[in-house]
Amino acid sequence: DKAKAAGIIEKAKAREILTAAEVYEILEAYRIPVAGWGMAANAEDAEKVAGDIGYPVVIKADSETIVHKSDMGGVAVNLEDGLAVRAAVEDMERKLKADDLKFFIQKYMPGGKEIIIGAKAEEGLGHLIMFGLGGIYVEVLKDVVFNLTPVTKFEAEEMLSSIKTAALLEGVRGEKGVDRARLVEIIQRLSQLVTDLPAIQEMDLNPVIAYEDKVFAVDARIAI
Ligand code: ADP
Ligand code: MG
Repeated sequence: DKAKAAGIIEKAKAREILTAAEVYEILEAYRIPVAGWGMAANAEDAEKVAGDIGYPVVIKADSETIVHKSDMGGVAVNLEDGLAVRAAVEDMERKLKADDLKFFIQKYMPGGKEIIIGAKAEEGLGHLIMFGLGGIYVEVLKDVVFNLTPVTKFEAEEMLSSIKTAALLEGVRGEKGVDRARLVEIIQRLSQLVTDLPAIQEMDLNPVIAYEDKVFAVDARIAI
């Protein structure tokens, strides 16, 4: 749904960073799978939204001034009930003094592999699409590969095969592998998304949580 996504970008033009709600609506418009989510303004609201999503949930601080949420105590994972949700929100309200502070509530997705998929505008060339292992591995191993848009299915499959840790995607020592077809699909959809929306300077899905038979983006950032 290009028109819907373009409308969201147009409204956000005065800012550099899109809000969580804007980002996830754009992902959904391009059928990039995301974990169930909702927004809340306060603790009471958050408990209601969490109940609708279904426990366990994760709470994330959402503010224009917060980039690396977990570094600032802005991520609380595996919250099992309303009491834990209210406590997490109140804790963030105390710690994080942002005027525009809101709370992004999301389904907790345990036990998958963390993948990073990103895009960066390259003047006159389109965008570079990035793929690699996410989470702690990104910074430590810098094991990512790039491909210029438009990324074909064949090229996306090659990206999965050409990281140094490609064997980890297959599963080692009896652990399960990841859903390669769905990761390939996300790379292609992201390639289409940034091609349709050239105002996007940088975009990251970090992490995408991948299981054997499904994948979900659980953190996403768009800079225009
Ligand atoms: P940031 O990158 O801004 O610190 P993230 O949303 O990526 O914030 O959260 C930090 C880490 O918390 C992720 O890398 C992941 O390990 C974990 N995490 C975040 N959301 C979920 C989720 N819905 N389910 C499981 N783990 C999550
Ligand atoms: Mg992240």
